[in-house]
Amino acid sequence: MIVKLSSPDPALRQAVTAVLEALGAEVRFLDFPFGAYLAALGLEEPRPEAVQGMAGVEWVRAAGSRPILAAREQNPRGSRVPLGQVEVGGEALALVAGPCSVEDREQVLVTARFVAAYGATALRGGAYKPRTSPYAFQGLGMPGVELLREAGDAAGLPIVTEVMEPGDVEPMAPFVDCFQVGARNMGNAPLLRAVGRARKPVLLKRGPSATLAEFVLAAEYILLEGNSQVILCERGIRTFETATRNTLDLNAVPMLKGMTHLPVLVDPSHGTGRREAVTPMARAAVAAGADGIAVEVHPDPSRARSDGEQSLHLPEFRRLAEQLKPVAEAVGRRLDLPNTLPFAPNQVPLIRRAMGWGGAR
Ligand code: PEP
Ligand code: MN
Repeated sequence: MIVKLSSPDPALRQAVTAVLEALGAEVRFLDFPFGAYLAALGLEEPRPEAVQGMAGVEWVRAAGSRPILAAREQNPRGSRVPLGQVEVGGEALALVAGPCSVEDREQVLVTARFVAAYGATALRGGAYKPRTSPYAFQGLGMPGVELLREAGDAAGLPIVTEVMEPGDVEPMAPFVDCFQVGARNMGNAPLLRAVGRARKPVLLKRGPSATLAEFVLAAEYILLEGNSQVILCERGIRTFETATRNTLDLNAVPMLKGMTHLPVLVDPSHGTGRREAVTPMARAAVAAGADGIAVEVHPDPSRARSDGEQSLHLPEFRRLAEQLKPVAEAVGRRLDLPNTLPFAPNQVPLIRRAMGWGGAR
């Protein structure tokens, strides 16, 4: 059962908790910016009448297979999740950008400085990679997390990186600003609970075969641990189409906005798997009302150790940001791009050459 309290007042909370515990429930107090709740878990037979009508109890819901805490009605104005300079879900769009995988110091540093200079809100990069083949590059692990942290600090950007195991959450937490739960792990309850206890923003990616209802219930796991800083990310689903890696389900944007109060990002990189489709679909996502974009960018995609074929070249990221700005404004949003640009576009091949990543393109 979920009990909505009229305030987080400790006396009220204790009085209601005592009744719920007497029923045999494990009780959790959830103090969210949009309201105070008690979750009464482990009851075989919910008995809402035991607390309904108590002073300070607004309502009681017997939990079933529908989300309660993540549902739009809990916060009709929408929740905002702070990420660097932006509150994701507010008027300003978030641009999460960076390589698929952290490969080495120069790769992340150059990417970080470049995307920061051209308007990124956060730096992404995987150190623990959920690859389809066990023989593919699996990521650098903890040293990769540390390199990403170093690059984020150098560029002044918060970092977003994937965690694959519940036991990795604690050791990673001091380095990470936002945990990514990848598509393959969307339904991994122990991992969802672990990031829920971490008290840090979570970027939760939709499973490739998950319905939107299942996606929102995965978010509900995180909220139920007391963490409402969840950003949903549509990243494409499995369909019969083979021309693209996935089918980017932009229906998800307006649908999720109706179903939940959580902000929604779109990842057109995994959503299409094809570089040439990334920028058009990013524009479409913003037009559809997404709160931002998560995009893969690499200084030399032809040499990327993962997802090179869908990664933007650095100058393409700059064009993406510039093209998103008017689209954002057309739908009543903002994209704040820095007006001091440390690199001229024609310097980018030089940067790349200086780093030993092939010739000018
Ligand atoms: C990624 O972001 O690099 C990634 C592995 O994404 P997804 O979990 O959506 O496949
Ligand atoms: Mn990737």
